[in-house]
Formats: sequence, C-alpha cells, structure tokens
Amino acid sequence: MGLNLPVIEPTTLTPDEITAMQAEIRSLAAERNALLIAHNYQRAEVQDVAHFVGDSLGLSRKAAATEEPVIVFCGVHFMAETAAILSPDKRVLLPDLEAGCSLAATISAEDVVRWREQFPGYVAVGYVNTSAAVKAELDYCCTSGNVLDVVDAVPEDRGILFLPDFFLGAHVRRMRPDRKIEVWMGECHVHKGINPDALNAERAAHPEAEVLVHPECGCAGQLVYAMGRGDVDPEGLHIASTERMVQLVRERPATEFIVATETGIMHRMQQMAPEKTFIAADRGAVCAYMKTITLEAVRDALVKDQHHITVDPETTRRARASVDRMVALGAGGKPGD
Ligand code: SF4
Repeated sequence: MGLNLPVIEPTTLTPDEITAMQAEIRSLAAERNALLIAHNYQRAEVQDVAHFVGDSLGLSRKAAATEEPVIVFCGVHFMAETAAILSPDKRVLLPDLEAGCSLAATISAEDVVRWREQFPGYVAVGYVNTSAAVKAELDYCCTSGNVLDVVDAVPEDRGILFLPDFFLGAHVRRMRPDRKIEVWMGECHVHKGINPDALNAERAAHPEAEVLVHPECGCAGQLVYAMGRGDVDPEGLHIASTERMVQLVRERPATEFIVATETGIMHRMQQMAPEKTFIAADRGAVCAYMKTITLEAVRDALVKDQHHITVDPETTRRARASVDRMVALGAGGKPGD
C-alpha cells in the first residue's frame, strides 16, 4: 500500500510521571471546561485519563449530549470531524494532526462524485471511517454493525455504491446476493494481520477461549468477510459494541477471550474483568495513527488550544444528513456505533 505510517514511540514517562501528568491534564480540562474522550484503540494511559472511552460515533454522540464547550478527541482525524459535525457549536481539539486513518484516506469527496456519475441512480452508503467531505457526498452513513439494516432500507430497484472498506462491502454483497452493489477497494492496514489463519491458530491453542470482535474500525472487516464465507467458525465468537463487551466478559462463563481487533481495546477489557485472560489474535494489530496521541500531546492540546478541527457549515449540514438518515432507520444503536 506504500503507507507512510507514523512511528509508534513507547512512553518515556515513569509510572509516577504518568500519574502526575494525568492529574495535570484533568486539572487543565476542568479549568478549560473540556471533555476528554478517548477511542478504544488509544494508549492505555490516555484511555485512563479520559472522561469517556468508547467507539467513534458513540463518543461523538456522547460529546454532543454533554455541556462542555471544548472536546479533546483522543482518536483519529475523521472521528474529530464527526464530533465537530454533531457538535458544530463546540471547539473540537485533536491532540496530534498525524492521527489519520489508512482506510478513510483511500477515498476523497471527488472520488465519490466521480463514482456517482458512473452509476447514476445508485445510492451511496459509506462507513463511518470517512472524512466529513466524503460523508457530505453520501446518502447514508453506516457502521459495520448496522450496514445490512441500511442496505435493506434502500429500495430494491436501486443499486448501491458501498465505500470505503472492501471487506465489509464484499460481506454485504454476499449477504444480499440479489442486490446490485458496487464496492470501493479501500482497506485498513491493521486488519491484514487479523486474518482467519491467525485467528484459527489462536483458537486451536486456546480451545476454551471465546472470541471477541469489536467491529467499528476497518481492522475487523476481513474477519466479518471470512465469517460470511464460512472460513471462521462463528461458535463462541461475538461481534460486539463496547457496551455489549462489558456485559459479555462479565456474563460469559469463559475465563479466556481471544480478541480479534486492534489490541488497544484489551486494556479496557482487562479493567472490566481483571480476573479473566485476554489474548490478542494478532499482537501486531496496532494502529500507528491511534498511537500518535500521547499524554504530552493531550496536555499540549489543552495548554495551547490545539489542533482545532473545523468543518465548514455546508459540509456539516450535508454530512450530518447522512448520519441522521442512518439514525432515523433505528440503526444507530447496533454494534459498531
Ligand atoms: S485501525 Fe484502521 S480503520 Fe481504524 S483508525 Fe486505524 S487505520 Fe483507520
């Protein structure tokens, strides 16, 4: 893919320094009346300082429902844009501008416009991992958890343009073989290691373990695709939103869980169920973009009021419409949001 990924630097702070910096950040956030939100794939010490940890759309909706006028989004750029779209009157800060997304970067708004011209009358459905400019060109936004609901809501005589995740699109095609669906060839670099062979090998090594898949980022797309093909046994495998995961790790009798998603989420799971064991399906499934956000960057965001993420009003209006259409279908609460 020829990606120029950021280098992941481990923190140089000692545990005491981490605790002190977290206290400083919380105090700065209180002074600035700022809400700190962190995606599940953030560094552990960043998750620990946040007021809320969760999925991108869930966090953006949470931020919109709270009073604080400033939102520090510890996640990647398209997520901060989504927060800005849902909270146009708030000041959304992204601590590091290098926090991009290889999947979102595979398609531009101009690409969508050209694609639509090639397929007149088709309905454009796009995954939440897209820029605000791309969302503005969509008819519907979707998550991996509600994509089939969204596709089913499109009149049967209309074709569908699905973007940007190829694996998720191919899965939808297989699940709805009677529909005309064109799929964009985008992919997330993280999912490559989370393949059916790696997962099946871990399952063979841990036969009692159940499998947890968090579907939101593109890193799980290949697995959803493999399940649809029958390459992965769905028995004991749960595709679950963050909240459902909280319930599952407590409710299920299993004491071992294989986690088939970016490894950052295991920090949250371990906190939810300290007595249980969590095994990464692929230890290399680490999103370098997510890891650009360090405690120092969060502190500097508050001190220097950086980096302000804005979306112009017209793009906000049009992008918001694609999100609202999804929510209006009652599909906003499925795993992945
Ligand atoms: S895990 Fe993949 S889809 Fe998610 S932010 Fe990173 S690059 Fe993008």
